[in-house]
Amino acid sequence: MRETDFFKGVRVPVIGQGTWHLGEDAAKRKTEVAALCAGIDAGLTVIDTAEMYGNGASEELVGEAIRGRRDDVVLVSKVYPHNASRSGVVAACERSLRRLGTDQLDVYLLHWAGSFALPETVDGFEHLREAGKIRSWGLSNFDRDDLRRAPDGCATNQVLYNLGSRGIEFDLLPWQQRAGMPLMAYSPLGQGPTLLRHPLLAEIGERHGVTAAQIALAWVIRQPGVIAIPKASSLEHVQQNVGAGAVVLDAEDCLSLDSAFPAPRSKQPLDIL
Ligand code: NDP
Repeated sequence: MRETDFFKGVRVPVIGQGTWHLGEDAAKRKTEVAALCAGIDAGLTVIDTAEMYGNGASEELVGEAIRGRRDDVVLVSKVYPHNASRSGVVAACERSLRRLGTDQLDVYLLHWAGSFALPETVDGFEHLREAGKIRSWGLSNFDRDDLRRAPDGCATNQVLYNLGSRGIEFDLLPWQQRAGMPLMAYSPLGQGPTLLRHPLLAEIGERHGVTAAQIALAWVIRQPGVIAIPKASSLEHVQQNVGAGAVVLDAEDCLSLDSAFPAPRSKQPLDIL
């Protein structure tokens, strides 16, 4: 699979794994851990979680999946805005590290902008970095103007991006590409059924001998500086998502996708889930 620069010279495969809603149902736990592990084995090594997901249940499940193999993954977690004071960030990170069973995060994100001033949050991040508890920090759900004003050192911005939500192509994505700041694309499958049932995805998939989901993912990672983090809770879905890394869309595919899912022609408000 193609790789891209992530932070501090660390290169990662352009497809990783999301974990929202994983770990919330005890009956599914074994399958979910197995799916996550299979994804890591197959190269989907960027794992995205958050203290918010299942109130820590997702971080605990990730902790179980990476036990004994911490160095095989690039671990990303997020702090709630209401915990993002200088001292709150530090305490929240320590709780996340305990749930994850590790002593260091690779990237720690502010989940979305809240009431604490960003420089204060970043102060907390920098303190964590100096203490070796995180390797880098970043933001999530920030639009271009707020990102432009952020303190130096932001490693990435994680935002909604899929065929059905292309607003960032107008300004945010090009800005991040110019700034050399990788963009983490969340909900790259549009959260599943509605987007994936679009007949065009099946039609293009048929031409390539792949599924609609693989076309949706291949489209998200078609350009430089984008890392997609689909969430999958079954082996079959994980395997498909791995395979999407090898799908190359041609100009004709992209043109027909553009007519069904038009690119933005003007500034759009940032879509947020
Ligand atoms: P996704 O776009 O990743 O879609 C997930 C859905 O797609 C699930 O129902 C999953 O089913 C299904 N799916 C996965 N792979 C396939 C496949 N190959 N074929 C068919 N269906 C498939 O949605 P998410 O909202 O989960 O986004 C991904 C991740 O992004 C999150 O898990 C989270 O880590 C992050 N995120 C971050 C946000 C932020 O504010 N920063 C907001 C939202 C998400 P199944 O589970 O059955 O495999």
